[in-house]
Amino acid sequence: MIDSNTKILGVIGDPIGHSLSPLMHNFVIQKLGINYCYHAFNIHPRNLKESLFSFNLLKFKGINVTLPHKQTIMSYLDEISEEAKNLGAVNTVLFENNKLFGYNTDVIGFLKSLGEFRQKLKGKTAIVIGAGGSARAVIYALIQDGIGEIKIVNRSLPKAEKLKVELKNILNFNKIYAIPFDENSFSDEIQDASILINTTPVGMYPEVNASPINCDVEIPKNILVYNLIYNPLKTKLLINAEKSGALIKNGLDMLIYQGLESLQIWTNEKIDTKTILPELRNFLIKKIEN
Ligand code: NDP
Repeated sequence: MIDSNTKILGVIGDPIGHSLSPLMHNFVIQKLGINYCYHAFNIHPRNLKESLFSFNLLKFKGINVTLPHKQTIMSYLDEISEEAKNLGAVNTVLFENNKLFGYNTDVIGFLKSLGEFRQKLKGKTAIVIGAGGSARAVIYALIQDGIGEIKIVNRSLPKAEKLKVELKNILNFNKIYAIPFDENSFSDEIQDASILINTTPVGMYPEVNASPINCDVEIPKNILVYNLIYNPLKTKLLINAEKSGALIKNGLDMLIYQGLESLQIWTNEKIDTKTILPELRNFLIKKIEN
């Protein structure tokens, strides 16, 4: 029930029409019985500054930020968390006392989504495909959490090299490498890894027959193949990995956990994730599959 005390939340992006965030947040808001509502706003980059001014004037409580605003928004915020500064991207803004505070919840969202597997990664090797914004958050998270070694594989090697150098310096972590994306070297590297994470959009709806790695690459049985994509829930990469006997995981839990972290920042509510997660997951799976 919306009344005159309802606090406004939302997500901004361009485009924004396919965002699952309104469905997800309004589901949780209803479950928690708190007086908030969550909308989606398509904001063109040239209107970003003015839209933030308007949101503040209208007493919004918070927004999520998605492409293409995650970096540019940083210059309009009053304070930015250390983590968001290191990542060079903000995905959550809190409006408080006419000030705008920026956070990034992708790192914690990714770590929480690993569940029990998180412990098994200490000191081990991770291969990350892609060198964009989500790769940066994933690698940052793994290093902070005690991974032994990271190998970044990317279509353009210079971008992987750049990411490697930046994170190496920020986190003072030396065991990070950029390797060329060729099938032979990749096939060897993967045999010693404990986790392979796809952070590219390859295989995402509607290009569901695409995979970031060739089906000839032998995927070992004891590896976790994690695809950040959640639509489709089982990409070609995950189908092939499952056939090889590997563990598989899609990006839905990361989406959920980063969203719940944002909601906690805005509302100060302690959310009982264990109770809400299965219900929320099922709700979103139905929406994705329809
Ligand atoms: P970016 O655009 O920042 O990075 C994309 C990366 O993918 C780049 O390294 C790019 O390579 C590579 N890439 C793109 N197209 C291809 C291709 N055809 N072949 C090989 N490599 C390619 O995107 P993000 O990191 O923000 O997002 C990537 C994916 O992760 C999206 O599918 C997004 O939906 C998903 N995601 C999921 C989240 C979740 O919560 N589950 C959170 C964030 C993202 P190059 O450098 O050569 O251009």
